[in-house]
Amino acid sequence: MSSQKGNASRNRPQKHQNRFAFKNNLHDTNIRTKRLNAIQINHVCPRCKDILEWKIKYKKYKPLKAAKNCNKCHTKCVKEAYHTVCQQCSGSLKICPKCGVSRDQWPSNGQTTFENGEEDDNDQENSDDKSDLSENDFLPI
Ligand SMILES: [Zn+2]
Ligand SMILES: [Zn+2]
Repeated sequence: MSSQKGNASRNRPQKHQNRFAFKNNLHDTNIRTKRLNAIQINHVCPRCKDILEWKIKYKKYKPLKAAKNCNKCHTKCVKEAYHTVCQQCSGSLKICPKCGVSRDQWPSNGQTTFENGEEDDNDQENSDDKSDLSENDFLPI
């Protein structure tokens, strides 16, 4: 004899709304990173090289989509991002194609004034080790 007392069906409103949007941007940045890593910075002065390398490192480098006007010959022949002078002009005038400083005034290689300070974040975990040994009072019924 097993008399199952029917469980009183309780109508609980189900509040399960676990909806989280999936963002799939990761692949895009991956390709971009690969492209950025393939960029070789040449012909610019050491200072600009540092700046451009920094931009690539921190993914702030925006490759040029269309040729820009050269500041010297005024034709659309600047094909490098952030450059203001085309390769030909910078070569003949002996200037940095980015900032326009003549090569005589370029700082010698090795002297980098651009320091990338890496901040060390000390993770300080607030460990709560408060083990309260509270005694349960059993009240006799
Ligand atoms: Zn030019
Ligand atoms: Zn420069």
